[in-house]
Amino acid sequence: MRTMKAAVFERAGRIVLAERPIPRVGPSDALMRVTTTTICGTDVHILKGEYPIAPGCIVGHEPVGVIEELGSAVLGYQIGQRVIAGAITPCGQCSPCLDGHLSQCGGKVMGGWRFGNTIDGCQAEYVLVPNANANLAPIPDGLTDEQVLMCPDIMSTGFGGAEGGTIRIGDAVVIFAQGPIGLCATAGAKLKGASLIIAVDAVPARLEMAKRMGADVVIDYRKADPVDEIMHLTGGRGVDVAIEALGTQQTFESCLRALKPGGVLSSLGVYSGKLTLPMDAFAAGLGDHRIVTTLCPGGKERMRRLMNVIASSRVDLGGLVTHRFKLDEIEKAYDLFANQRDGVLKVAITP
Ligand SMILES: [Zn+2]
Ligand SMILES: [Zn+2]
Repeated sequence: MRTMKAAVFERAGRIVLAERPIPRVGPSDALMRVTTTTICGTDVHILKGEYPIAPGCIVGHEPVGVIEELGSAVLGYQIGQRVIAGAITPCGQCSPCLDGHLSQCGGKVMGGWRFGNTIDGCQAEYVLVPNANANLAPIPDGLTDEQVLMCPDIMSTGFGGAEGGTIRIGDAVVIFAQGPIGLCATAGAKLKGASLIIAVDAVPARLEMAKRMGADVVIDYRKADPVDEIMHLTGGRGVDVAIEALGTQQTFESCLRALKPGGVLSSLGVYSGKLTLPMDAFAAGLGDHRIVTTLCPGGKERMRRLMNVIASSRVDLGGLVTHRFKLDEIEKAYDLFANQRDGVLKVAITP
């Protein structure tokens, strides 16, 4: 049996490099040789035991690679073609998929999130892509692995927050938290045509990057009360759209307090425990507020459009890759990324 190297979740606190069999290809699958991948904040939750996956599962859900082998029912692709697949791999055929909710494929919450969750992921030399006809997206000529590395997850998720918020040309938008996803939401707000983009964080390097991604104003929440500042910047009106990109009670609440009546709170964060709605900020339910949530949109059409955004130079997310590691050094990469050392935003992992 041929084997490969892979980052495997062993138990809470331990993700290790291990030898695993190279997956066998079924009729609707494709085998991708991974050329570049990355680590996501969600993988850190898995590492810490805060999000349960089965011991022995290979982690990672952001694959860039080359087609190594195709199942008999996968049509329209060639061996050797450079492709990505989204973090979310919908089947494209079930009723939630056909209804447009690809992330909720199969009818279970987050059912479309399979890589490094319910099936083996891509922090490995090879990854099996399920329902390949719905998920393999060819990389446009001339784009490097690193240029498209953000498409499978953080670009799709961050842009999804801007799209879910239905930002209109000329809107005022605030984005709370400028981690990789918040930064992509900032870039998404710019692309959607917002005329005032406010980014909130406390890490100077992230606020600096927020400006590069399109923020007009950045607020360090340790130096000023962000809601007061936002009200001041909008002449007391509040923002049209507030994007939450962290997943805490405080940021959620600040989003609500920063909104105009009739505004949209677009939530990307992953919450735990209990989330409460303060009735004054929620106008006792009479403020025509809308709260929308988005899980990373996936599928090959989504990936095709995101890669076109990069190919047409509408946005440059290359600056988000701050560190590079070989797959052999994955444990070191987790250590750096999980502890947010050395100004890390995203790492590139090459098998
Ligand atoms: Zn992720
Ligand atoms: Zn489906």
